[in-house]
Amino acid sequence: MEERIVIVGAGQAGGELASGLRKQGYKGRVLLLGDEAHPPYQRPPLSKGFLQGKVALSDLYLKPLATYERFEIELKTGTRVEAIHRSTREVALGDGSRLGYDKLVLATGGRARPLSLPGLEGARLENLFSLRSISDVEAMRGRFVPGNTLVIIGGGYVGLEVAAVAVQLGLRVTLLEAAPRLLSRVTGPEVSSFIEKLHRERGVEFRLSCEVRGLELDEARRQVRGVSLACDGVPERLEADLVLVGIGLVPNTELASAAGLSVDNGIVVDEYACTADPDILAIGDCANQPSAYTGGRIRLESVPNAIEHARVAVATLMGKREPSAAIPWFWSDQYGLKLQMVGLSTGYQQCVTRGPAEGKEFSAFYLKDRRVIAADVIGRPAEFMAAKRLVSSRVEVDASRLGDVAVPLNSLAA
Ligand code: FAD
Repeated sequence: MEERIVIVGAGQAGGELASGLRKQGYKGRVLLLGDEAHPPYQRPPLSKGFLQGKVALSDLYLKPLATYERFEIELKTGTRVEAIHRSTREVALGDGSRLGYDKLVLATGGRARPLSLPGLEGARLENLFSLRSISDVEAMRGRFVPGNTLVIIGGGYVGLEVAAVAVQLGLRVTLLEAAPRLLSRVTGPEVSSFIEKLHRERGVEFRLSCEVRGLELDEARRQVRGVSLACDGVPERLEADLVLVGIGLVPNTELASAAGLSVDNGIVVDEYACTADPDILAIGDCANQPSAYTGGRIRLESVPNAIEHARVAVATLMGKREPSAAIPWFWSDQYGLKLQMVGLSTGYQQCVTRGPAEGKEFSAFYLKDRRVIAADVIGRPAEFMAAKRLVSSRVEVDASRLGDVAVPLNSLAA
């Protein structure tokens, strides 16, 4: 019988994997199962151009529907996998049927971390949102109208991108962040203050070191009317027409753990994207993988990672062994300004900035033992390529030359 690869999750990683298999000449059946109503699509525009109304739905799709037919990829949208039966190599679907596999790839991504506050149990709030999918944007978009008051809980990329879109659409925006500065887990203080200033100048208000104490609901418990908080212990109440919660992602690992596979902040895989079961792989946001860059394990949430991890899995499924040597990188867009990040700055000893932080273009390099381990490049796409080379080459650099805009970055990476 013809070999069959079943992919669970028709997102960025699952979509890349399915087409990658065909491009590499895979001849067996490829089934791509997704529980959303859409074919694989890009999520980054959800908090940017799509929310703003500048990107059409069809432009989100990774590939036109006809491509799946042409590639003979059996795409089944609206199809949820409920369980994996490893002994019979089958998955159980939401409609009660079962589907056999020879190889199974879990590309289940993650879901928005819910807000956990006392008193919210059982409440179905019509104006409390999170942002992970097209349907999330469709649910909130009608409330993104001038004059409405938006409270955003969480100062990560999604919260900041939504803040940027919302003030541009004429909403009044206040963003609440538990840490003393924005993006504190992923970037240095120099970049945090740059981003904060960028937003403040456009009218976004911030409450930092802020504890959200509760949501004030209407009598029917269907609408949030206000948010109670305390900044440095000082209590405050903010009115809200709508609230967006952007406090991170929970990886979708339940299928794997119920099937007895190892899960530890993601589905544990080796450098070839394989779980301990040789017939089951996991890729993308849901997977915890070894990293050649950190020397440890890592779970990444980014498009470049989803694409690279799919490439590794395609190689494995084609009988090759091609572990990743990629350096993590990510981008964000706020007010038309491109922010690009490469590497992970954790444990850096020195931050060298290049260009004035008051301007629109600015880079920050994170050094450890005189080597650049990470960089944040704002508004300078050409410099980002050189920054990537600096991080991957691991060459020692002279900090004063690195900070001197007159010295071409490329000359340091050489
Ligand atoms: P996903 O794209 O989440 O796909 C997983 C799919 O699996 C989903 O459709 C899910 O519904 C489905 N699924 C889960 N369980 C099952 C099941 N049991 N049965 C069937 N289907 C199932 N990254 C960047 O690099 N740059 C950005 O600027 C950026 N912006 C972002 C903005 C937003 C608002 C969001 C939400 C993400 C952003 N990302 C960005 C992150 C990036 O989109 C993700 O890292 C990427 O989509 C991960 O791909 P994935 O395939 O692993 O997961």
